[in-house]
Amino acid sequence: MVETAVVVEPNGAVLYWHEPRRRTATALPDSRALWLVLWEARERLGGVAHTHPGVGPPHPSAEDLTTFAACEEGLGRRLSWWIATATDCVAFVWVGPGRLDYTPAPAGHTPWLDELRTRSTHSAGGL
Ligand SMILES: [Zn+2]
Repeated sequence: MVETAVVVEPNGAVLYWHEPRRRTATALPDSRALWLVLWEARERLGGVAHTHPGVGPPHPSAEDLTTFAACEEGLGRRLSWWIATATDCVAFVWVGPGRLDYTPAPAGHTPWLDELRTRSTHSAGGL
């Protein structure tokens, strides 16, 4: 489940907060608005972070992986895909050779992390 996502530049600057009104049980939501943000910002994108409920090390869902791959294929470039839980934040990056071969990497500079968690917490549970 995705409560909140954020699109960021390589330096950590926030480009877009993605907080769809209607939460879904999908991974990164199939959102035209989000896709348009990614496309418009494709030259300066660092990646996309989203939240998972609970605590502990995050793991991308099968749908997360196919979404990562589809976005990168559409954009023609690789990104970092952070997933944050209440206690951890991990960046997933493509390593190949398979289409869905993403591996955990250090989260790096994540100045948006606290706000992502706050927005996620504040928006959770309200259908
Ligand atoms: Zn996810």
